[in-house]
Amino acid sequence: MLQLYVPLNFLGVLYREIKQSLADMEKLFSLLEQHREIADAPNAQPLQIRDQAGPEIKFDQVDFSYETNRQILHQVSFAMPAGVTTAVVGASGSGKSTLARLLFRFYDIQQGAITIAGQEIRAITQASLRQSIGIVPQDTVLFNDTIEYNIAYGKPGATHEQIVEAAKAAYIHEFIQGLPDGYATMVGERGLKLSGGEKQRVAIARTILKNPPILIFDEATSALDSKSEQAIQTQLKEIAQGRTSLVIAHRLSTIVDAAQILVMEHGRIVESGTHTELLALDRVYAQMWARQQAQPELDLWADEAEPAT
Ligand code: ADP
Ligand code: MG
Repeated sequence: MLQLYVPLNFLGVLYREIKQSLADMEKLFSLLEQHREIADAPNAQPLQIRDQAGPEIKFDQVDFSYETNRQILHQVSFAMPAGVTTAVVGASGSGKSTLARLLFRFYDIQQGAITIAGQEIRAITQASLRQSIGIVPQDTVLFNDTIEYNIAYGKPGATHEQIVEAAKAAYIHEFIQGLPDGYATMVGERGLKLSGGEKQRVAIARTILKNPPILIFDEATSALDSKSEQAIQTQLKEIAQGRTSLVIAHRLSTIVDAAQILVMEHGRIVESGTHTELLALDRVYAQMWARQQAQPELDLWADEAEPAT
């Protein structure tokens, strides 16, 4: 029905914005059939994940460009072990968020393969793929609807009790209770505007409700002060337990205990290992670490010109 009221060109713009911000809005895709650039293969199968602790994910010699003549990823290969966190660090524009967009299959790659539990993502249904991945984006987009609706988005048909449980687990329940209409408070551009940290908590609540085996967290750069950032980090570690997680990090202190850290430069993985291994290697990561230790509040890659990508 929404199609009748919303001009198609607006949907186009919205679709691009959603892709760019990695917003967790799978349901919207059903409204956007005409704009889909990615289609299910004729014999696409639902993704099968047997591992209790999240699936193994592999990027194998992936080449990718958004536009012809400008290659963004070059021969990117890595394996994300099942049920643990892989962190990605690197300068602004090095291709970190692109990895997340490709895993969610917002775009198809030109060369190589991306597999989840051994299944190529081009061979599985997009619906099953997107159901299996929870995204806490850098910049959460809220619907102009109630805060309850915005959380319930993670799981269509969720009961009020489940929504409250998720809000509690995301430490946003008390905040919501203090709002003029509680869970029925209208939020979004035309309602109550939430801060960056509050919006991120809504995204976390959505993800808790969705309970996906795969988690993507694109760490906010400047939206949060370091205290809220730390609180959110603690929560994320909790929800990342037992899931295969990809964390795009700006503050290195948040990822020291990641199972694996990938360092990106100009669309290539130039180093990978644990924090300890990368410090011992004493190259790119070790230099970043030294700089951030000297200036803890420094966002190494903050770039005033960078949009929220
Ligand atoms: P990071 O997250 O590391 O800052 P991104 O993965 O967002 O970097 O971007 C990697 C490169 O791809 C950048 O050069 C960026 O300008 C380019 N890029 C990102 N999104 C698009 C897009 N939708 N169309 C064309 N180029 C893009
Ligand atoms: Mg990014």
